[in-house]
Amino acid sequence: MSTFSAFVLSRDDDGQQQLAWTELTDDDLMEGDVTVDVSHSAVNYKDGLALTGSSPVVRRWPMIPGIDFAGTVAASSHDDFSAGDPVILNGWGAGETHLGGYTQRARVPGDWLVPLPPAFTPAQAMAIGTAGYTAMLCVLALESHGIVPGVGPILVTGASGGVGSVAVALLSALGHEVIASTGRTEEADYLRDLGATEVMDREELSGPSRPLGKERWAGAVDSVGSHTLANVLAGTRYGSTVAACGLAQGMDLPGSVAPFILRGVTLAGVDSVLASKPARLEAWSRLARDLDPARLDSITQTRPVADAPSLAPEILAGRIRGRVVLTIP
Ligand code: NDP
Repeated sequence: MSTFSAFVLSRDDDGQQQLAWTELTDDDLMEGDVTVDVSHSAVNYKDGLALTGSSPVVRRWPMIPGIDFAGTVAASSHDDFSAGDPVILNGWGAGETHLGGYTQRARVPGDWLVPLPPAFTPAQAMAIGTAGYTAMLCVLALESHGIVPGVGPILVTGASGGVGSVAVALLSALGHEVIASTGRTEEADYLRDLGATEVMDREELSGPSRPLGKERWAGAVDSVGSHTLANVLAGTRYGSTVAACGLAQGMDLPGSVAPFILRGVTLAGVDSVLASKPARLEAWSRLARDLDPARLDSITQTRPVADAPSLAPEILAGRIRGRVVLTIP
């Protein structure tokens, strides 16, 4: 029987989590019509929550964590995939309800997989990862509401993080003027190199908001939530749109309806986990077209999957700049 190794997250009777690099067999894999030899995964914010147990992300025990992966099809009975095809998986409950990406081998329904765009290596696909793919979904949400280059500055919150860094790079490559909001003002040069035209201290946005403020941005990508999102909405120009995808500050939204009913602002929610296959294909194809690989390299560090446990508290503390790719041995 074929064996492979994976990080397995288990829980004892007291609810304490343990993570161990464990040898498994193909019989341990879950249902699916495509088996993938995984070469790369990543550290996303949700992986940090799962690995530290600070939020109930994992809903099946034991679990292989990792909400995304890239690799090569080893075996397939799905019409769209054959052995040798390079593929990407984002979400669909990987690392939550279905065995995830911190593994040498995965088995998933083929309908969940996206072909690796020829523009990217598997490592680059995971440098983008779920954070970058979500940033692209946010850009697409803005575009679908008429936010095109030239309408005015676009605000990106949590700009030094994974979603934020890719959003800044994408929006600037598309020709937008980008305001990057960050708590790490020492990263101003990094953000300007990614294409930000202005860097603002997130302190301006992180306290309780007034119902309406000065109309400052013509759109926004928010990965922070809570007071920050309320302030973002209060500062959004008449008729503009905010794409909201994250909760780095909190899951609450302590604001008012004033931006919606007095300024016609749209709040566009973005979910990457259950996004449709056409939406995923569009996002990955636009990433291949719009994301400069040199900028991608500048936001990425590469680490062995063995480092994932020590990186988990770091990403939750907002101490990871850009993206971390994990190599699978
Ligand atoms: P990162 O940790 O890489 O980035 C989050 C950034 O938010 C930090 O780098 C920091 O940026 C900022 N931040 C952190 N804590 C606070 C705080 N208390 N107040 C204000 N800002 C803060 O995570 P990701 O980019 O991977 O994910 C960002 C968010 O998006 C997470 O909440 C994640 O769960 C969510 N997400 C949602 C998805 C979806 O499908 N909807 C998919 C992917 C991610 P800085 O230092 O620049 O201020």
